[in-house]
Amino acid sequence: MTQYPHLLAPLDLGFTTLKNRVLMGSMHTNLEETRDWNRVAEFYAERARGGVGLMVTGGMAPNREGGVFPGAAGLFTDQDIANHRIVTDRVHDAGGKIAMQILHAGRYAYGPECVSASAIKSPISPFAPKELDEVGIEKQVEDIVIAAVRAREAGYDGVEVMGSEGYFLNQFLVTHTNKRTDRWGGSYENRMRLPVEVVGRVRAAVGRDFIVIYRISMIDLIPDGSTFDEVVTLAQAIEAAGATILNTGIGWHEARVPTIATSVPKAAFAWVTKKLMGKVGIPIITSNRINSPEVGEAVLADGCADMVSMARPFLADPEFVNKAATGRAAQIAPCIACNQACLDHTFSGKISSCLVNPRAGHETELRYQPTATPKRIAVVGAGPAGLSAALVAAERGHKVTLFDRADRIGGQLNMARVVPGKEEFNGLVAWFETMVAQSGIEMRLGVEATVADLAGFDEVIVATGVVPRDPGIVGQNEPNVLSYIDVLRHGAPVGNRVAIIGAGGIGFDVAEFLAEGHSPTTDPALWRKEWGVSDPSTERGGLAPEGPQPEAPVRAVTLLQRKAEKPGRGLGKTTGWIHRASLQMKRVKMIGGVNYERIDAEGLHVSFGPARETPQVIAADTVVLCAGQLPERSLADALIAAGRVPHVIGGADVAAELDAKRAIDQGARLAATI
Ligand code: NAP
Ligand code: SF4
Repeated sequence: MTQYPHLLAPLDLGFTTLKNRVLMGSMHTNLEETRDWNRVAEFYAERARGGVGLMVTGGMAPNREGGVFPGAAGLFTDQDIANHRIVTDRVHDAGGKIAMQILHAGRYAYGPECVSASAIKSPISPFAPKELDEVGIEKQVEDIVIAAVRAREAGYDGVEVMGSEGYFLNQFLVTHTNKRTDRWGGSYENRMRLPVEVVGRVRAAVGRDFIVIYRISMIDLIPDGSTFDEVVTLAQAIEAAGATILNTGIGWHEARVPTIATSVPKAAFAWVTKKLMGKVGIPIITSNRINSPEVGEAVLADGCADMVSMARPFLADPEFVNKAATGRAAQIAPCIACNQACLDHTFSGKISSCLVNPRAGHETELRYQPTATPKRIAVVGAGPAGLSAALVAAERGHKVTLFDRADRIGGQLNMARVVPGKEEFNGLVAWFETMVAQSGIEMRLGVEATVADLAGFDEVIVATGVVPRDPGIVGQNEPNVLSYIDVLRHGAPVGNRVAIIGAGGIGFDVAEFLAEGHSPTTDPALWRKEWGVSDPSTERGGLAPEGPQPEAPVRAVTLLQRKAEKPGRGLGKTTGWIHRASLQMKRVKMIGGVNYERIDAEGLHVSFGPARETPQVIAADTVVLCAGQLPERSLADALIAAGRVPHVIGGADVAAELDAKRAIDQGARLAATI
């Protein structure tokens, strides 16, 4: 008997059956744009082999004007169809099913040709769209229908029509973006005409035995968004028009409420999907912040949906479903919802990968092949870089010994896990513990490895991490001064007024840790209140009329940096705004462009500008140093002095802009080649 009876139950769609209730949701990986179709095919085939019930591709543009960016992939030519055939054949050979998402971006299309219901620019795009006339609307519908027909010719099992997240079809639905007075605007009946027409004509063109998913925006999280009555009306009309499945979309891209970031509680929006259950006869999928079989099972058992969609968890672990089905759930590499290697890459024009699984998106190039010449390998440092190297080396058949002077593994991950909103790091450390325990790696915790200890090994990998940078500020040895390690690792007592020196990733984390009381991430009702999320049945778009209502901060925190730019500029592309907004809600003062003069019992004395003008005292009971880090290379240097040639990875190699993504990637890539 499986632990996940709901999740693993088949879903009969009439003309075809999905083997379980797990959908791999659409992700734009930039892989299609490489035009390396073997690489694209392997990406999806690896996930098909992993047992997922149905996959949806990244969004394919139906035409040039609807592409998310210029040159976005789509099925425009016979050659495109032949290329996509390589993908669908490989997926089918692997026993999987795959649908192609048709994504018309409307006013979110990054280009001057973009079109929409009305000529209203989005706050997240520099381009004002052209208002479509009747002929223009007909062209868009026709192009979407042609894309669906071509998807069928290319061997896809279905299509997903993207109707949520504020894209083209969503833009017609709400008065926020649709000011038309013709038959496509005004009343709700008119505003929903376009998506219903699209689904009806797609169904007529592709025939009955083809999956048509419609991604419906359950809660827009923008002003003048849909009410839930409107969502229900649309869902019923979409069903009548011939959709096979309804998938959930949460929030427009321009919404100022986080919807998928790590600080969003698990399954935070399943309750919204649940409201639609029983209102339509076709299966409904829920999504957002579901990243383990336990959460997926609980959501389905609670009647929130018929199926769950997970996207990023399939970057972290393609074998998610097989592991859940065979009693190996603890071995599922967890998606920590950090966006660092997936969405941050997508929006920087890079290939999406995964912090936890560097093979994601690189399946054809980064392979962990069994070694023909097993070696004795010492890895020193059980932080992300060392753990990654040790696990890959052990998987390949090397005999690995892992040293750490601490009595537990995880390194700096153990500091991240205590920060409110970063609870997912607990799961990551637990996963590393599980994997290490079953890997055959010999553990030497609580041991400060010396050159002599490492003498008998064929290879030594030094992953000793970093030491805090000494900022050399007068008074920094006073008793009221702590380092971030004292605060995050040792739980040192901190006063009510705090000045933080350094506004990098760690300065932000320390500010969050010190200003936040109870973590809203573990308390969904508190989280909704903090971000102003309401019930779309009572408030249009699901935005609380009173706006965000954060709890009062537990300390008065000031975050400082010397650079004159906006603090937090270097944080993640898709998550930096959330960290900044979260600290603003906790009334954290952020000050840039300072000179640090001295620290004394009053607090931190600063001045401004090259002439060190306008002296100011930041009154503080405690000053916390978060001034960056330097490589801890003492062991590496000692090994080199003794004539050894160690491999140095992670922070011990380069501390600048070190994060777990680079550390894990570097460890895995090294261990794949030894
Ligand atoms: P960091 O991001 O490099 O920030 C160091 C901070 O210290 C900067 O604000 C810098 O600003 C300041 N600083 C540098 N030299 C200084 C000096 N001599 N005196 C005073 N201030 C000085 O380093 P970090 O905060 O230690 O973070 C380390 C890495 O961990 C980051 O690169 C980050 O990728 C990762 N991390 C990421 C996150 C995340 O949210 N994604 C969270 C935690 C950690 P000024 O030079 O302008 O003063
Ligand atoms: Fe998840 Fe982070 Fe990996 Fe993206 S990079 S899939 S958010 S763990």
